[in-house]
Amino acid sequence: MAIIGGGIGGSTAGCALAQAGLEVSLHEAAPELKEIGAGVALHPNAMRVLRMVGVEDAVRRVAGHSEYSATRNWRTGRVISKISRSEQAATFGLSGATVHRADLLDVIAAALPPGSVTLGTRCTSVRSHEDVAVARLEDGREIEADVIIGADGIHSRVRAELFGPDDPRFTGKICYRSVVPTDAVRGARPSTDNTQWLGPHGTVVLYPLRGEELINVVCHYDDEHYRHESWVNECDRREVLDRYAGWHESLLRIFEAGNTWYKWALYDRDPIPKWTKERVTVLGDAAHPMLPYLGQGACQAIEDGAVLARALSTERDDPVAGLARYERTRRPRASSVVLAARERGLSNHLSSPIAAWRRDLTIALRRRLGKDREGRGAAWIPEYDATAPDVLAS
Ligand SMILES: Cc1cc2nc3c(=O)[nH]c(=O)nc-3n(C[C@H](O)[C@H](O)[C@H](O)COP(=O)(O)OP(=O)(O)OC[C@H]3O[C@@H](n4cnc5c(N)ncnc54)[C@H](O)[C@@H]3O)c2cc1C
Repeated sequence: MAIIGGGIGGSTAGCALAQAGLEVSLHEAAPELKEIGAGVALHPNAMRVLRMVGVEDAVRRVAGHSEYSATRNWRTGRVISKISRSEQAATFGLSGATVHRADLLDVIAAALPPGSVTLGTRCTSVRSHEDVAVARLEDGREIEADVIIGADGIHSRVRAELFGPDDPRFTGKICYRSVVPTDAVRGARPSTDNTQWLGPHGTVVLYPLRGEELINVVCHYDDEHYRHESWVNECDRREVLDRYAGWHESLLRIFEAGNTWYKWALYDRDPIPKWTKERVTVLGDAAHPMLPYLGQGACQAIEDGAVLARALSTERDDPVAGLARYERTRRPRASSVVLAARERGLSNHLSSPIAAWRRDLTIALRRRLGKDREGRGAAWIPEYDATAPDVLAS
């Protein structure tokens, strides 16, 4: 099995495939396995897979320390909903974690089989024959494997080779992000809760990384003008402070302490109708790029790896059948999450005070009824067990 791309998705898939006794090689374009300097929230559905591949404890050791996950009002800070880590563990069987992306990738990469990773190899094309799949590399060399898995991210070469260019639509929303040293925030020490702040036209997400050392900040806002999708374009801190003027003072103090800010435009893509052609498939953002409102992009990529390994090991003698089962299992689920993330963006940014009041009331009622501790109607996402023995669709 050859994996193209050594991000969170490709590396987790590599661990899961090796654990299932399948031979795996991973080919990464960059000269090292490296992540952007930002956080990632891992929900119970992802932590179950990380437990299965044996890295849960190592991930928890480098995770941020937060006792609660809360949704708050943008201006007053009023708590709209709140769930403790222990309640989350009681509900879903284990709790989530918030981690620096570089730390997460280090932990997962350390669990890959020795000698399975080749760096500095960019894939330029793929093709599938009856008995073998072939990836062509930038330097002209070719790799042959039973199966090729494109885990090469949102601008996937492998997906484009299989199905042609995608059709991103600008959402009218942008994101800002920064990682702030907790000690640099002036005044009262910031809460270490994992919080989401809902306001007119925007959402702010905060959570701790590396114990309480860092605060990961992601801010979303409606903006029709900025159209650049890159995750690494810097912007001025002043812009962030102006945009969120009037939001809760504790947020503005944290924003002031962020030295480097990045800004990117959010593009939406419909779920694609197929992931696989013969012996080549896609995984992670290459298969199901999604808006960030549920914090599920990496979590879904991690789920993909567990299911792919189960499908290919179950259909050991027929990889084409294995890929078909992988796609039948994963595509409906990941597509539902893509659509749910789109809806969540709309609901988070409501600008009418009456509509926002109705949303907050619905959250409170759902919580009161007891089945949905976060009150957002999305418990089906963390509940899912990609490691279950019967996870595969028939
Ligand atoms: C700021 C930010 C915050 C986020 N927060 C969350 C969160 O809280 N929770 C969550 O679940 N998700 C989150 N996401 C989304 C999540 O990070 C992505 O969904 C996830 O990283 C996708 O992983 P991937 O392995 O599919 O792709 P990527 O991480 O993009 O990895 C792709 C890899 O493929 C390599 N590559 C690309 N092209 C080629 C090629 N042609 N040949 C060889 N290698 C190639 C790249 O160098 C890269 O290493 C966030 C994203 C961002 C930007």
